[in-house]
Amino acid sequence: MRLYEHEGKALASAEGIPVPRSRLVASPSDAEEAARELGGDVVLKAQVLAGGRGKAGGVLAAATAGEAGEMARRLLGGIIRGLPVRAVLVEERAEIAHELYVGVAIDEAEKRTVVAAGPGGVDVEDAAALGAQFARRTVDPFVGLPPFRARELASGLSRGRAMAHVAGVIGKLYALYRRYDATMAEINPLAVTPGGEVLALDVRCELDDDALSRQEGRLRAFAIPVRLDDGREPTELERRAAEIDRSDHRGVAGRVVEFGGDIALLIGGGGASLTVFDAILRHGGRPANYCEVGGNPTVRKVQALTRLLVSKPGVRSLAVIMNVVSNTRVDLVARGLIKGLLDAGVDPRVPSGCFPIVVRLAGSWEDDGYGILDQCGVRWLDRTHTMDEAARAIVELTRSRE
Ligand code: GDP
Ligand code: MN
Repeated sequence: MRLYEHEGKALASAEGIPVPRSRLVASPSDAEEAARELGGDVVLKAQVLAGGRGKAGGVLAAATAGEAGEMARRLLGGIIRGLPVRAVLVEERAEIAHELYVGVAIDEAEKRTVVAAGPGGVDVEDAAALGAQFARRTVDPFVGLPPFRARELASGLSRGRAMAHVAGVIGKLYALYRRYDATMAEINPLAVTPGGEVLALDVRCELDDDALSRQEGRLRAFAIPVRLDDGREPTELERRAAEIDRSDHRGVAGRVVEFGGDIALLIGGGGASLTVFDAILRHGGRPANYCEVGGNPTVRKVQALTRLLVSKPGVRSLAVIMNVVSNTRVDLVARGLIKGLLDAGVDPRVPSGCFPIVVRLAGSWEDDGYGILDQCGVRWLDRTHTMDEAARAIVELTRSRE
């Protein structure tokens, strides 16, 4: 989950990293008042879940409170980097002698956390951690980041008092990264003031989605809600799907995203689900949702999920398509599917049903699974049919009922 700048700054500040005084506002009049409180000379920053705001016109300076109101009017309701601006951070303007970059992230190749530091500003984001001027250190998880390592990283960037401050910030940023199960935490720019103080002017954090359940309470203390990456709140259907997933640790029935189409999808996890989703689109179908199923879910889990997805208003068909998966029992999926359809009041039998269903499953216990589907009159495709054929079949069947 990506955090807004103001949220990242709240966490950074709690960690002891110096940040400018600021106010979060949602209207020009509040911006004006905030600017007055902060002394008039301020920077206004669009709060969107994207970087590169400076270059896109999302960071504006104002010299007076009146000007701040004017700038807020320009930002609020506008679009920055393709995202609507609903809030603006009004911040006292810092004096900058030079700008640094410090970041903590996962190095996928090393399979370890890496800490990087280098020159900062709006031009480094693309080249971050790649440029020759960047110092990088991977961190041994059992050792952590000792202060001497932080000073080593800082020593190439600054001297004297500022060096000690920068090293302190690096240590605290690493602590933040660990405390909140972040996959990325970055300060760019970390401003060094003419007086040799440091100030985090921009903080970006991404938290591990799989750790959110244990971070939820901690984030609530900062009024940070758990939400999706595009910044919207989950829909009712998405919330209920997440509850179903949480209700039982066995199997994945998750990553549900709601769309506006009419074909409900229960599709095998990972690359297969993405492939199926793309295939449905390519054949001209309109998915009602995205939902991964796998890891041998229980009958009850598949049942609850089927019921939820099929009951959605406007849904006119269902596709259950998986690759050949040996870790998911076809018979359990088949049982859950039938029960869920019956719960939702859908007659699964093809001849009488005006609700098209395409099932393409293969894997463990498939013969038992096919037997169950036969008993209930659900037509199925085995591994001799490709996932693409199944995707085309559901699109055509759905269309033929229009
Ligand atoms: P980003 O473009 O989305 O990364 O937004 P930033 O928050 O990093 O802001 C972009 C640039 O605006 C920074 O690199 C700074 O040069 C400038 N900036 C941001 N805050 C201040 C400030 O308080 N004072 C001054 N002088 N410049 C600032
Ligand atoms: Mn930045």
